[in-house]
Amino acid sequence: MIFQNFDFMKKYILEFSQKKRVSNKIFEFSFLANEEIKDFLPGQFLSINLAEGISRPYSIFSLEKNSIKILVEILPNGTASKIFENMKIGEKFSAILPIGSFVLQENDHKKVFFATGTGISPFISMIKKVREKSIEKGISIFFGVQKLEEDISKKLISDFQNIDLTISLSQEEKNFEEKNFRIKSGRITKNFDPKNFDLEDTDFYVCGNPEMVSDVVQILQNANAKNIFFEKY
Ligand SMILES: Cc1cc2nc3c(=O)[nH]c(=O)nc-3n(C[C@H](O)[C@H](O)[C@H](O)COP(=O)(O)OP(=O)(O)OC[C@H]3O[C@@H](n4cnc5c(N)ncnc54)[C@H](O)[C@@H]3O)c2cc1C
Repeated sequence: MIFQNFDFMKKYILEFSQKKRVSNKIFEFSFLANEEIKDFLPGQFLSINLAEGISRPYSIFSLEKNSIKILVEILPNGTASKIFENMKIGEKFSAILPIGSFVLQENDHKKVFFATGTGISPFISMIKKVREKSIEKGISIFFGVQKLEEDISKKLISDFQNIDLTISLSQEEKNFEEKNFRIKSGRITKNFDPKNFDLEDTDFYVCGNPEMVSDVVQILQNANAKNIFFEKY
C-alpha cells in the first residue's frame, strides 16, 4: 500500500542554519522551520521557493521536530544551485512539505535501494525508519557514481549492520571488497542481478538520475519484480 500524505502538506518558513560539505559537489543544508513539522514519511520531499518564480523539489534527508536537512548537488550554471551556493545563515525561504508518495512501505519485505548522487538522500531516512521497526530481512544498496572519490554512500551510512552496499563506478576501473561494502566497475545496471532476490518478498526503491531510474526499473519489470517504487530527479 502506498501512503498518500497530501492532507499534511503545508507551507512553512525555513531559516537556513548550517551547510556541511559531503563531497566535491554535494552539500548538506540545514534549516529550522517556524514550527514543528508533523506526519513526515521517509522518502518524501519538500518544495522550496528560492526566489521569485524559482521553486525546486528536494528529498528530505532528515527531519526532527522543526529541524530539517536536505542534500543538494551544486550543478555548474544551475539556477537553484547558484542560490544555494550563495545562501547566508539566517536567510529565510518558504517551503511546502511533506510532499509525495515515494515512501517506505510498511511491511517486512527485504529492501533494495538503487541510487545515484543525491538520490541516496530519501533512502537514508527510510533506512532509519527500517531500523526503528527492526525489520530483519536486510537491506541491499546499489549506489552509482562516476569515480570512487565522488562516493557519498559510505559517509552517509553510519551503521552497516544488516546492510550490503555495492558501489558502481561508471568511469573508473576498480574492483575490490572491504568489510562493509564492495566496489565494482561499470554502471549499476551491470552490477546487480534480479535473480539474486526473492522477487515476491522484496521491495525495490530506485531514485536519482532519470536514465538510471528508467534502466533499473526496466530490468526489474522484465524480471517480473512485484514491488517497484521510483522517483526521478
Ligand atoms: C522529487 C525530486 C526530488 C529531488 N531531490 C533532490 C535532492 O534531494 N537533491 C538534489 O540535489 N536535487 C534534487 N532534485 C533535483 C532538484 O530539484 C533540481 O532540479 C536541481 O537542484 C537542479 O536545479 P538547478 O536550478 O540548480 O539547475 P537548473 O537551472 O534547473 O539546470 C541547470 C542545467 O544543468 C543541467 N543538469 C541537470 N542535472 C545535471 C547533472 N546531474 N549534471 C550536470 N548538469 C545537469 C540541466 O540540464 C540544465 O541545463 C530533485 C528533483 C525531484 C523531481
